[in-house]
Amino acid sequence: MNKALVLFTAALFVLAGCGSPKKNGKPVVFVSILPQKYFVERIAGDKFEVVPMTGAGQDPHTFEPTPGQMMKLSDAELYFTIGITFEEVWMDKIEEANPKMKIIDSAKGIELIKMPVMEEVFGHTDGEEHDHEHGLYDPHIWLSPALVKTQASNICAALCDFDPAGTALYSANLAAFVSDLNKLSLELRTRIAESGVTRLLVFHPAWGYFADEFGLTQIPVEFEGKEPSLNQLRIIIDFAKKEKIGALFVQPQFSEISAKTISEETGCRIVVIDPLAENYIDNLKSAAAALTENKGGLLN
Ligand code: ZN
Repeated sequence: MNKALVLFTAALFVLAGCGSPKKNGKPVVFVSILPQKYFVERIAGDKFEVVPMTGAGQDPHTFEPTPGQMMKLSDAELYFTIGITFEEVWMDKIEEANPKMKIIDSAKGIELIKMPVMEEVFGHTDGEEHDHEHGLYDPHIWLSPALVKTQASNICAALCDFDPAGTALYSANLAAFVSDLNKLSLELRTRIAESGVTRLLVFHPAWGYFADEFGLTQIPVEFEGKEPSLNQLRIIIDFAKKEKIGALFVQPQFSEISAKTISEETGCRIVVIDPLAENYIDNLKSAAAALTENKGGLLN
């Protein structure tokens, strides 16, 4: 979609003052990715209409809003950002589409880690800073339940601020959500520790905060946000063979040719885990199950 056309369409719509009608008169809240929709709904209950920018199967790294979404923004009261790639490109336009909408950084208070530099696999690289398509810092903060607690608190504070009458409800919902996140964290920690798995070979390095929380080392195949070169692929294959790595995790939003090559050459399984599913708690349980079940005595 041509950005100028989207903006022009959105601008016309704002000028005409004809935003689409609000569903059941509920205030509209925008989020960038589907897990955030789940987080907001856990706290807001059914008091808001939560609209995700990127839907199922869409890649938030290369995503561009549709004219329909830009129009819908003119109805929105709040936008919860999370720091994912497309926000860097689009946030100014999103703000222009509705200057009255309040933009809340749901990552506030979270210390970002750097995107991984694969010294373990590729050796030392003269202290050179490797940039990823995300920039230097890792945006995938929603994959750590511990960090989701901070995001949930930020969401709760913003909803209470917008609708003070709902404060008791939002606070009670936050407490219930935090309790579920604590349970999830404990369950995953136990399961992963008992399995003896310590490493996670992934195509796209979305699992850095997850790995940090559960004592794993993430080994990405992607190099600076791109498919690896043939030479880099060779190095990864040799590494995976030497370390007897039993599974390569890929995500459904990406198509990976090199993943197949690695699997064919090393005999490791390709396992799909989704970093962007809306049913957050069940999805993280499935990811942990996939990780521990695919140990096969090989994934060390
Ligand atoms: Zn990513």
